[in-house]
Amino acid sequence: MPENLDRVRGRIAAAAAQCGRNAHSITIVAASKSQPSALIEAAARAGLEHFGESYLKEALEKIASLAAVPLTWHFIGRLQANKTRPVAETFSWVHSVDRLRLAQRLSAQRPYHAPPLNVCIEVSLAAEPGKAGAAPADVPALAAAVAELPRLKLRGLMCLPPEERALESQRRWFAELRGIFEDLNSAGAGLDTLSMGMSEDLEAAVLEGATLVRIGTALFGPRPPA
Ligand SMILES: *Cc1c(COP(=O)(O)O)cnc(C)c1O
Repeated sequence: MPENLDRVRGRIAAAAAQCGRNAHSITIVAASKSQPSALIEAAARAGLEHFGESYLKEALEKIASLAAVPLTWHFIGRLQANKTRPVAETFSWVHSVDRLRLAQRLSAQRPYHAPPLNVCIEVSLAAEPGKAGAAPADVPALAAAVAELPRLKLRGLMCLPPEERALESQRRWFAELRGIFEDLNSAGAGLDTLSMGMSEDLEAAVLEGATLVRIGTALFGPRPPA
């Protein structure tokens, strides 16, 4: 784990240096789906604080078992409207808000003693059938509506673009999300988070301005079979 983390940090630092960014402006969220609590604990000991989970039932069990460890939990998976309550009660961040109804429920269900829930709007850049995410054209109105909700804090945008092998092809998708992000900020949205980049494409994401990368296999190795 420490070796993997060093390697990921080195990749981020190299990409950041290449475009004149400060590597410290990029947060690593360890995508720990399918990984056991013991491995998450080892990752925390190695210096990671942010963990991203994708499957709610599994996530809630692990979060409960790790309650003694001070970690920040991000929900990065697909969210069903009838499962928002435990997410609103347990997580600090949700990266996969792609429709207003989800956001409204999360806001209504966020406990009053907790700080506002940080959210990103997930954008579907390629209009792939069956894929989660708001259409780019719908993002400005959705962002404006989400920003009005009292118990949420809209932080930025997230994407899971189609898999591409070439750096330039990877960069094109991330540049598109960055464009939407910059348009929103030009209109006064005040967003600070671009959640993009995974194990295979983190360099492209950093070059296009990612502030948060979600890294699974490069940190933990291959995911165990479900
Ligand atoms: C699993 C997952 C990741 C990490 O993927 P790796 O390729 O293992 O780094 C990032 N984001 C989301 C939404 C995921 O589900």
